[in-house]
Amino acid sequence: MPPISWTANRFKTKQARGLWAGVAAHAVQPFNNIASSAIGLVMTSAAHIGGWPIVEGGSQSLANALASYFISLGGKIQTSQFVKSIDELPSSKAVLFDVGPRQLISIAGNKLGTSYISRLKKFKYGMGVFKIDWALNEPIPFTNKHASGAGTVHLGNTFEDISYSEKITSEGRHSDKPYVLLSQPSLFDKTRAPEGKHTAWAYCHVPNGSQVDMTDIIENQVESVAPGFKDTILKRSTFNTMQMQEYNPNYVGGDVVGGLQNLAQLYSRPVLSLSPYRTPAKGIYLCSASTPPGGGVHGLCGYYAAKQVLKDLFGNVH
Ligand SMILES: Cc1cc2nc3c(=O)[nH]c(=O)nc-3n(C[C@H](O)[C@H](O)[C@H](O)COP(=O)(O)OP(=O)(O)OC[C@H]3O[C@@H](n4cnc5c(N)ncnc54)[C@H](O)[C@@H]3O)c2cc1C
Repeated sequence: MPPISWTANRFKTKQARGLWAGVAAHAVQPFNNIASSAIGLVMTSAAHIGGWPIVEGGSQSLANALASYFISLGGKIQTSQFVKSIDELPSSKAVLFDVGPRQLISIAGNKLGTSYISRLKKFKYGMGVFKIDWALNEPIPFTNKHASGAGTVHLGNTFEDISYSEKITSEGRHSDKPYVLLSQPSLFDKTRAPEGKHTAWAYCHVPNGSQVDMTDIIENQVESVAPGFKDTILKRSTFNTMQMQEYNPNYVGGDVVGGLQNLAQLYSRPVLSLSPYRTPAKGIYLCSASTPPGGGVHGLCGYYAAKQVLKDLFGNVH
């Protein structure tokens, strides 16, 4: 796939180019990176085929449903234990770690070998996010009626504006008019807020590890297309990149997609290997977004990792 900037030239109108920029920026990388269009294309296709669904009750409901199925098959789950060392885990034929390469080194480094560890250390992280969650008195008063009816809204004005803000952010600067990705789930799911009230969240990309407070900048972006928005805010909660990492150590420097998804790391996550899920240590596997096909809630990293484990333990499986 070509870069995003090249594919944008295929669109005839300014609106279509802007729309493409909003979706393609999910790639979290500069628009002139080789193959960066791929992620935008996948997300646009998914939107056309089934929309971008949200889970009733919040994403936790999806995890709960998967967990209850696992338990119904006889599986056991233990939560609320932060694993610092592989030695804390019971002995087993295989352990699948849903963590990034840095954590894998700190949890199981003594079993991985120096050559593999030095390859893991070369893994690159991309831009981070600054995120805000809002409790709102009413729906966001977008002037555009399509935005008022959308689950996900991309803000950033023109293709050129979004492309510029992604470029400077990836270079380590902060944009004063960044690309903002906004979700307004309570419009479609009554369980998200008390009767008559609403919730929304948004983030913008910032340099990896940034601790700059982007609250005003994000809220100004929303206010510019939804005059009166700021008056609807009852309460907000913010996360800078380091708070994101504290919340989930997989979000290194605020990178929520498990590492830079450029061409070099798209298929060779976290290292170039015929089986990136398998580590050199027998029975130790990776299954996080730091493995192919990368970030997102598609579950495919775990699916392919599980297939690899079954193949290693029992031979070919279908
Ligand atoms: C605000 C936000 C919105 C997003 N929106 C979308 C979206 O709309 N669509 C989409 O496809 N993707 C989205 N993503 C990205 C997507 O959520 C991630 O790419 C994906 O969840 C990564 O999956 P994972 O399996 O690598 O690990 P994670 O989902 O990060 O899960 C890893 C789990 O392991 C836990 N953990 C980590 N280390 C340890 C340890 N040492 N011991 C015990 N537990 C540990 C973590 O707390 C976490 O619960 C979004 C991300 C964020 C932050």
